[in-house]
Formats: sequence, C-alpha cells, structure tokens
Amino acid sequence: MRITLENLLGIESEQIEKEALEADVLVLGAGPAGLTTAIYTSRAKLRTIVVEEGIPGGQAATTFHIANYPGTPGTIGGKDLMDNMISQAKGFGADIHDLKEVFSLDLSREMKEIITEDAIYRAPVLVVATGAESRRLPVEREADFRGNGVHYCATCDGAMYQDAENVIVVGGGNSAVEEAVFLTKFAKHVTIVHQFDNFQASKTAQEEAAMNDKISVIWDSEVRTLVGEKHLTGVEIENVKTHQMSVVDANGVFVYIGMQPRTQILKEQLKINDWGYIEADDEMRTNIKGVFVAGDVRSKTVRQVATAVGDGAAAAVNVERYLASRASQK
Ligand SMILES: Cc1cc2nc3c(=O)[nH]c(=O)nc-3n(C[C@H](O)[C@H](O)[C@H](O)COP(=O)(O)OP(=O)(O)OC[C@H]3O[C@@H](n4cnc5c(N)ncnc54)[C@H](O)[C@@H]3O)c2cc1C
Repeated sequence: MRITLENLLGIESEQIEKEALEADVLVLGAGPAGLTTAIYTSRAKLRTIVVEEGIPGGQAATTFHIANYPGTPGTIGGKDLMDNMISQAKGFGADIHDLKEVFSLDLSREMKEIITEDAIYRAPVLVVATGAESRRLPVEREADFRGNGVHYCATCDGAMYQDAENVIVVGGGNSAVEEAVFLTKFAKHVTIVHQFDNFQASKTAQEEAAMNDKISVIWDSEVRTLVGEKHLTGVEIENVKTHQMSVVDANGVFVYIGMQPRTQILKEQLKINDWGYIEADDEMRTNIKGVFVAGDVRSKTVRQVATAVGDGAAAAVNVERYLASRASQK
C-alpha cells in the first residue's frame, strides 16, 4: 500500500471528500504525447486537464539529451525539451494536475471519469497517453536493490556514481549505448553487458561508444544474480553460448532491456494487443467512443518523441471534431 498522510492518520481514502472537476478534455499522462494533445486542445479553447501520476515530462525528461527531435539546435536536453512543452501547454490554458494517483477510471459513461484520492474528474473525452516504462531486470532481489544499486534512469541517478570504479549497463539498443556514454561522465569505467554479439543501437551511438575508452563490452551474456548484502558489489553473469558463469565487480547497474506499456488500470476496459498496447485506428480512436490514445502506449512500431507528439496532435484534432459533431447532434 502507498503510504499517504491519510494512511498515517488512519483515514480511509473513501472518507476524503473529493472535489468534482469538469473539463471538455481529460488527458491521462503528461509526457510528450499528452502535453502535445493539451497544447492543441487548449489552444482550440477546450478546457483541458492533464492528470499525471508523477511529475510532468514523461520518459523524454529522463534522458540526458535528445539529438533526433526536429527543430532543435542539434541536441536538446530531455528535461529542457519537456519544460518547453509544459510551459507551452500551460501558456494556452491547460491545467496540469501532477502527483495524482489514479484509483479508477470509468470509460463506459457518456462523461468519462477519472477518480483520484481527492478528486473526480469528468469530461466527454479522455485521451490516454500513459506511455511506457522500463522492463525490470528479471533477477531475484531486483526490488531490494532498486534505486540503490539497480537503476533505470541514468539522468536521474547517474551522479550517485561519481568516481565509481565500475558501473554496468545492461542492454544493447539505443538507450543502453547512449546512456553508457553519458555514465562515463561520472564513473571511471562503464561495462555494457549485452545478450547478443552485436548492438541494435544506431550507428552513430555505436561509434560514440566505440570511441570512448572508458567503455568496454561483454557480449553474449545475461545478468543472473545481484551480488552484495546491503550494497551492490557486482553481478554474476552467464555467457549464453558457453554457459560459463563469472562475477563482474560493479558499484551499480543501469538497465535498458526494453519497455512495457502502462495499461494496468485500463486493460479491462480498452482493446489491447497481445503485448498490452492499446489498439486504435489512424485517428487515434479506441474501441470506446470518446476515448482516444496517443504515444508509446498505442499499438505501433516506432516509439520516439517525434511519433508521440504526432499522435498527440492527431488525437487532439480528432477530439475537436468529435466534440463538434457531438454538439451538433444535441
Ligand atoms: C532513456 C531513454 C532515452 C530516450 N531517448 C530518446 C531519444 O533520444 N529520442 C526520442 O525520440 N525518443 C527517446 N526516448 C523515447 C521517448 O522518450 C518516448 O518515445 C516518449 O517519451 C513517449 O512519450 P509518451 O508521452 O507517449 O509517454 P511517456 O514519455 O512514457 O509519458 C507518459 C506519462 O504518463 C504518466 N502516467 C503513466 N501512467 C499513468 C497513470 N496511471 N496515471 C497518470 N499518469 C500516468 C507517466 O508518469 C508519464 O509522465 C527515450 C526513452 C528513454 C527511456
């Protein structure tokens, strides 16, 4: 159970009187997709409330820099890019309600409902933009070491490893290779452990890593055990070809082994594919009238900031059309 002030005071959440808030458009999630939707809908003078579980910015705010987002001067800090989107959305009048844990959603009614600890939000339209999160390292004691030895965000936690002897990065895609380069700003050495014998990262990312003499790679290997009592001291890895086990000393491990959609509270109500992503048509409409989806949580093949904002724009324009046709039918 999440520890809240109400829990500590022995108050049941049902006993808290909830504020009732109405909008034209509710957006769930304040990453690039949700914020872009909010920029468009609030600019179209639709009252828009974005409900965010954490702090606004999404995954993009957790990466050191983004080099492939159009219209930037070469590269831009992930947090800077997202701060711009937040200001733009607020500037057009969107309300962003952050740090709101969503207890339940009711998508079956004409007015969609989001219920949090202290509010009931209602609107004829909901745009789901809950994105994706890192797949956890599948080893015992991962939860014990999470945040203290095992990490999923180098921008957030990399500085904890200033002058560390060795930090391990698990994975071989763009995020793993780019974040390994970033971690060399702090650690004396970074070891990438990858399950295959070549990277799936872009050529540019691979070249950057190859030129960095603080980075070494262990191919064909997977992490099997976290070593250490109170603090992590290393990992035991298995070579998947020879099955030979060995221990690599390390102060911390950063994991980039793929993503999983954040559809936990939605999957009973929305049509999702076999991998848990929400299905929609080209207009971002889901199987439920008035419910749209945008960004990484949608069933699609490319998950980037550019595609998330594209989805957000498409969802918003179709939301406007949906609300206009709904109004004309009344
Ligand atoms: C380390 C890393 C590096 C990356 N580098 C690049 C790059 O260089 N270039 C690039 O184009 N892309 C990059 N990406 C991918 C890019 O960040 C994502 O494609 C993009 O952020 C997706 O946007 P989104 O809005 O769909 O979802 P997200 O960014 O995941 O945002 C979703 C938001 O919804 C919130 N949320 C989730 N569940 C709930 C809930 N139940 N209630 C309320 N709020 C909820 C989350 O807290 C989050 O703020 C990177 C990703 C990572 C992790």
